[in-house]
Amino acid sequence: MYLIFRCDCGRAVYAKEGVKQKKCVCGKNLKVKERRILAKTEDSQEASEKVQELQEEKYGGAYFTTANKL
Ligand SMILES: [Zn+2]
Repeated sequence: MYLIFRCDCGRAVYAKEGVKQKKCVCGKNLKVKERRILAKTEDSQEASEKVQELQEEKYGGAYFTTANKL
């Protein structure tokens, strides 16, 4: 099981269940237990898809999809 949550910087991150700390790309160490869990998934593939979904939600989709504007 994988847990999905947000860092204070706004990025969505995921961690395998049972992992105590996860480092966000912003450099902050997140204590998994103290975060509000947004979603749970069965495998890491699903988890990374979910994280991307949450990122697009926050940044309105354009953040990751600039290629189609060329
Ligand atoms: Zn962060």
